[in-house]
Amino acid sequence: AKKSHGKRWLFYDETYLPAEQSKLELEKEMRYGLERGEFQLHFQPLYRIDTNTVSGAEVLMRWEHPERGLLFPNTFIPLAEESRFIIPLGRWMIREVCRQWSCWKTQEYEPISLAVNISVNQFLHPDFLAELEDALREYEMDPAYLELEITENIPFSDSYAIAVLEHIKQLGIRISIDDFGTGYSSLQYIQRLPVHTLKIDRAFVCDMMHNRNNKVLVETILLMAKQLDLDVVAEGVEEQEQLEFLKENGCALVQGYLIGKPTEAVLFRSKWL
Ligand code: C2E
Ligand code: CA
Ligand code: CA
Ligand code: CA
Repeated sequence: AKKSHGKRWLFYDETYLPAEQSKLELEKEMRYGLERGEFQLHFQPLYRIDTNTVSGAEVLMRWEHPERGLLFPNTFIPLAEESRFIIPLGRWMIREVCRQWSCWKTQEYEPISLAVNISVNQFLHPDFLAELEDALREYEMDPAYLELEITENIPFSDSYAIAVLEHIKQLGIRISIDDFGTGYSSLQYIQRLPVHTLKIDRAFVCDMMHNRNNKVLVETILLMAKQLDLDVVAEGVEEQEQLEFLKENGCALVQGYLIGKPTEAVLFRSKWL
């Protein structure tokens, strides 16, 4: 992850933190990259078990770097968050999602919902709501098809954060709690928030057939979500056995390599729309 390419070098990943100097370099590269159109959207199908259909997609960011090739979010999102470059990058992402949705609509494909990841700093930025509304209006996207994935890092007890959530709900946009189970918020707490969906983190799903604790955790989340009338998406489903288990336990939606990996828009469209 830290190859030398001329004077542009050192990359950010989970195991390595670049020095301040190379962080500045990378941030500069990200800025150029955004200007030059190097960022792209990949789409991963969201499969609805009961109707046996792909009802939506999660939109995931990729960086087509001119020298290093296709980069995954773990190599640049953490630094983008730290440097606040996530603000313009996230703004671009939302506009692109709305643009793509409209584009498919114009081409008369059956509309699907699109879920986009929102960083905490982006969510709390004072212009976030206005920009969101602008993007929906400009591209004439039906807000009912937009889903924002937020994590438990959002300060749910903060009155400003709650006001933003309420406003999003009023716009008719859906909200999911991503990586659910990894944070500390209780379901009782989440119930009071305008949240529609819980996404069970891949870490629990991937070994639940062999790890009793995780299996019980998944079952418990599904049971409680049902009582609280929340949708649940199980992430990271890779095996048929997992899908069967989730189906038996009332999970409505799944996402994972078993259904499909994230792919670029054209491939996604030809395979799933
Ligand atoms: P996430 O939101 O939890 O996204 C799910 C990640 O799990 C994706 O990785 C996806 O490719 C991967 N995945 C899905 N199904 C499977 C599976 O069956 N097996 C395995 N092994 N992996 C699976 P990806 O695309 O590398 O994204 C990683 C993280 O980067 C995302 O985690 C999200 O937190 C962040 N991210 C991606 N795009 C954006 C964005 O536009 N904005 C922000 N703020 N964060 C983003
Ligand atoms: Ca997500
Ligand atoms: Ca997730
Ligand atoms: Ca995750």
